[in-house]
Amino acid sequence: PSKEYELTRRKVEDGTIEMWYFIRSRLKKLNKTLSSNKEMIKTLTNLLDDIADHKRSIMVDLEKLKELDGMAVWRQEESKKLSDLVQQRLKYLQNPKDCSKARKLICSLNKGCGYGCQIHHVVYCFIVAYGTQRTLILHSKNWRYSSQGWETVYQPVSDTCTDDSGITRSSWSGSDDAQVIDLPIVDSVRPRPPYLPLNIPKDLSERLIRIHGNPVVWWIGQFLKYLLRPQESLAKFLKHAEEKVDLKHPLVGVHVRRTDKVGTEAAFHEIEEYMEFVEEYYKQLELIQPVYEKRVYLATDDPKLLAESHQKFPKYIFLGDPAISKSAAIGTRYSSEALKGVIMDIHILSKCDYLVCTFSSQVCRLAYEIMQTEHPDASSNFHSLDDIFYFGGQGDHNQVAIIDHYPRIPTEIELKKGDVVGIAGNHWDGYSKGINRRTKRSGLYPSYKTAEQVQVHEFPTYEEVRN
Ligand code: GDP
Repeated sequence: PSKEYELTRRKVEDGTIEMWYFIRSRLKKLNKTLSSNKEMIKTLTNLLDDIADHKRSIMVDLEKLKELDGMAVWRQEESKKLSDLVQQRLKYLQNPKDCSKARKLICSLNKGCGYGCQIHHVVYCFIVAYGTQRTLILHSKNWRYSSQGWETVYQPVSDTCTDDSGITRSSWSGSDDAQVIDLPIVDSVRPRPPYLPLNIPKDLSERLIRIHGNPVVWWIGQFLKYLLRPQESLAKFLKHAEEKVDLKHPLVGVHVRRTDKVGTEAAFHEIEEYMEFVEEYYKQLELIQPVYEKRVYLATDDPKLLAESHQKFPKYIFLGDPAISKSAAIGTRYSSEALKGVIMDIHILSKCDYLVCTFSSQVCRLAYEIMQTEHPDASSNFHSLDDIFYFGGQGDHNQVAIIDHYPRIPTEIELKKGDVVGIAGNHWDGYSKGINRRTKRSGLYPSYKTAEQVQVHEFPTYEEVRN
């Protein structure tokens, strides 16, 4: 299919969901104002149900279109080709012929944050290594999750080149001639490397935009695919974990992040808020196949939540381990036990058919990124209760207005077709918030009136790796 066809097909999907968000939110608001009028409340509640039903029916048809256009095989093959190409380039970069002469980028696994944040830190380093054509050297001794470092769980990032020495050494960005460069964390890297997400490499961009609904997530996923190659013992552990939860489909992954996150970096959300979207997923699936068991994999750092969920939603089967939640809670978190727990939770979440979570958490974003390595395009297999997808330290997230918008209330902003809008967030009620870069005004605008502007940058093309 042409790129335009693929983009349009995905746009109809997004538009349908956005319309549902819009109507749903308006009707819910209206319902709240009708506290005394029982008849009206009933009518509106039924209306909400009917509209969701309409939405699901359209979504199923769109899913069918994707099968009927005869390009399923192409999607699989193209996705594999692209992944193989990037994986070969990474292998080539990480295994230089002569390590003593290789250009190197040093990255330390000592960022003072959780596992998801630290893995994203390594991804950032690796992307900069790719962009500067330097072999990534990872320092990981005394890692807060495991004093023995990275290799307790993952394969070394290089088979042949782990020695960080070199004739000349400099801190970022220093002199490009220096053989060895030390890279600080993304929060303090000056000047900013031009390779950071949301940028994707120009030489792959056309193919990625065609095949994937969120190319930069696919791109990040490829670095994770290379980095998170498990050691044999971890591979066994994960296999065992899959058997223990009886990993089979359909399965929806729910991640509920609480303890230290709530009130500081994210709001508290009741389990009901997550389950509304799990229910939507299963109701839609029931339109195409019988669903005998509604299974939910629940990962959380709140040890009480599994029991609460069982009790509140008896029609669902909740999978998960309260002992892991206990080790995940703040206070018990930085241990080898907790490390295995979070790796396992993210692994299973990434294998789910759909994710419901808060993208303010790096745990869920990580699962979503890894999920992309399992499908040609799983960019829309999630619902986030708060943030849109982002990568810590990313450059501007821009959209382009595709339809004019005339604000009707002071909180809205004007859009003229072609305006570039820096998006800050989606309110999941039909509206997004952002800044119009032309008028410099910030405010709300209808989400369907803009389209993503994929950020493309020149990267090295690794001609030595043929594919
Ligand atoms: P964020 O703080 O949620 O953005 O993500 P981080 O990964 O940076 O830090 C949170 C840490 O809490 C994780 O790395 C885990 O150690 C722990 N954690 C949070 N949620 C879960 C969960 O669902 N399962 C497990 N096993 N650990 C979790």
